[in-house]
Amino acid sequence: MAQIIDGKKISEEIKSEIKERTKLLLDSRGIVPGLAVLLVGDDAASSIYVNSKNKACDALGFKSIVERMPADAKENEVISLINKWNSDPEVHGILVQLPLPKHINETKVLLSINPTKDVDGFHPESVGRLVVGLPGFVSCTPAGIFELLKRSNIDISGKHAVVVGRSNIVGKPIANILYQKKKHANAVVTICHTGAKDLSYYTKQADIIIAAVGKPNVIKADDVKDGVIVIDVGINRVEDSSSPKGYKIVGDVDFDSVAPKASAITPVPGGVGPMTIAMLMHNTLLSAEGNLFDE
Ligand code: NDP
Repeated sequence: MAQIIDGKKISEEIKSEIKERTKLLLDSRGIVPGLAVLLVGDDAASSIYVNSKNKACDALGFKSIVERMPADAKENEVISLINKWNSDPEVHGILVQLPLPKHINETKVLLSINPTKDVDGFHPESVGRLVVGLPGFVSCTPAGIFELLKRSNIDISGKHAVVVGRSNIVGKPIANILYQKKKHANAVVTICHTGAKDLSYYTKQADIIIAAVGKPNVIKADDVKDGVIVIDVGINRVEDSSSPKGYKIVGDVDFDSVAPKASAITPVPGGVGPMTIAMLMHNTLLSAEGNLFDE
């Protein structure tokens, strides 16, 4: 049976390390890491995410600023708030909760964030740094996946990783992390998307599969080889009459059929999910410590 990669446990370990480093930073230099989060509109899921980020800040001893703007807020109002945070020395990380309302240009807003405070890692400068292998902020979910592999002692060097999905927030950045000529990385990477005529042809060749599709059961037992390592990023709600809520959360991979063939696998929930906030806190701490961009 596969090793179950416990994202909840690993994220707790990371948070406890962050808590210690945060205390040290305060004691030695009087610095409190500060995270500023902007939520525009009243999307229920976004509001839940923002609340959990706020809670994580409290638990770790960070300063948390949460600003809520109405759904009809103007683009220039959003950008002027970001500019204020850009020049506030108590703000080390700035996060704009996505998606933004349609009338606001998301790219323009992300570009207005000072790249030295871009803890979400979505600014093109952060993405460019990742691609060319320079130090910088790496977006939180892919950074969390990399941490899961590292802390589970999975050596990916020379292995064939197949990433399914090419979004800017998961697929592209995780592919760029995995193939870097760096310690704990150095994998050979294939990226699949809807242009792949036969997805199974690729996944069957994978030593490692990173599934970031957003559809349940896209990868089943017949699509993987024995001993595969599976990181399932998907979060999908499917009907479940046995649950009081009437639904359950599953990943992109059919866990029950794939786990017996895999050597290691992340569950959903409890795999990649808990890592994202932990890595956001980690990025904010790195920013507050101030030596992230040193080479
Ligand atoms: P997107 O919808 O932005 O991207 C999905 C990608 O999957 C696209 O590149 C798409 O291809 C590809 N795809 C869709 N169907 C197929 C298919 N049948 N075969 C091959 N490729 C396919 O999703 P995200 O990357 O934002 O998220 C992916 C999943 O991860 C979601 O379930 C999301 O909820 C979850 N997620 C979880 C996080 C966490 O745990 N913290 C954080 C972020 C996301 P194409 O480009 O051609 O359209």
